[in-house]
Amino acid sequence: MSKPSSPTPLPALLLSTDFDGTLLDHSLPPPLAPEFFDWLENERRRRRVVWIINTGRDWESLHDELIQRQARIWPDWVVLVEREIHRIINQRQEPLPCWNRRCQETHDDLFHRAAPQLQQTRRDLAHFPDLQLITDIGSPLGLIAASPEQADEVQTALEPLLRAFPEMHSVRNSVYFRFAHIDFQKGSCLARIAQEEGIPPENCFAAGDHLNDLPMLDPRHAHQLCCPSNAVPAVQAQVRLHQGHVSRQSTHLGVVEALEQFFNFK
Ligand SMILES: [Mg+2]
Repeated sequence: MSKPSSPTPLPALLLSTDFDGTLLDHSLPPPLAPEFFDWLENERRRRRVVWIINTGRDWESLHDELIQRQARIWPDWVVLVEREIHRIINQRQEPLPCWNRRCQETHDDLFHRAAPQLQQTRRDLAHFPDLQLITDIGSPLGLIAASPEQADEVQTALEPLLRAFPEMHSVRNSVYFRFAHIDFQKGSCLARIAQEEGIPPENCFAAGDHLNDLPMLDPRHAHQLCCPSNAVPAVQAQVRLHQGHVSRQSTHLGVVEALEQFFNFK
C-alpha cells in the first residue's frame, strides 16, 4: 500500500494595499476594515501572508490614523511617500537603509538639476485660480488643485517639465501632486520588499484606487491585481487590461472580494 502523500504547503503570499480609498473608507467609523483583518487572520492560519501598506502618506500621518482607526493588525512593511521602505516591528518603523539612502540621493540629485525648470513651472501654473503651490514632503514643488477638473488641466500643463526630465514623473493622488524619480514608486517598492521576503510576483497581490497606484498595478510586480469599485476609471482600465479583479464593492470590502476570488475559490 502506498503511503498517503502529505499535502503541498501553500506558498507564502504578499499583499500590497494602498491605504486611503482602498483600505480606509473615510466615511466609516472605526474600527478600520474589520472584514479585511478577518480574511488576513484566517489566511494566516494556513500560510504565511506578508502585508504592506503602500501609501503616499508619511509615517506620522499613517501611524496616527492606524491608532485612531483602531487597526487590529499592523502591516509588516510600509511604503511611505510612495517611495520609502520601512519594516514595521512593534508598531515602529525601521527603514530599509540601502533603499532609502539611494532614494534620497537620487531625488536630491534630480531636484537639484531640475531646480530652474521647477521654478519656471511655478510661474507657468500661477494663472490657475486657487491652485495651491506648496513644498511637499520629499518634493520641492507640491500642488493641490481646486477640483478634479482643474487637476486634469494641471496635469496637461506639467507636460513640458516632464518632457525636459524624462526620469521624473508627477505622482498624482486625486487633486494632490508631487514629483519623484521614476525608479522610486509604489511598484518598484513592492518589488524590493518581495525580493526581501523571497516571494515571487506570482504570489503577490496589489490593490489600489488612484493614479499613484498604477505603478504597482502591474503584472511585473504582482500577478493578482484588484481595485475597489470606487477606483478612478484609469485604474479600473489598467486592472481590467491585466485580467485583474474590478470589485463590485468599494474600499476594503472590494479588496476582500478580490482576495476571496483569487485565493479562496480555486
Ligand atoms: Mg488611494
